[in-house]
Amino acid sequence: MRPASILAGLVPPTEGESMPNQELVCEDCKQVFELTEEQRKYYAETAYTLPSRCDACEERRQAEKNAKKAARRPTKKRRW
Ligand SMILES: [Zn+2]
Repeated sequence: MRPASILAGLVPPTEGESMPNQELVCEDCKQVFELTEEQRKYYAETAYTLPSRCDACEERRQAEKNAKKAARRPTKKRRW
């Protein structure tokens, strides 16, 4: 009787292999962008939902938002 291990045929868990980057499609420019492992960790830890836009679009939106905010200053007092 040989101590032939059945387990020998099993694929061992790949060590040191990091999770593959997750590919997401940008809502705005429809381009595929990837989250780095670092980013994914960040989103996992902060429980934020994954971004639906690439960095460039996200930045642009942020800029637009700020611009709108700045433009929407209430002009309550009319001085005439
Ligand atoms: Zn984009």
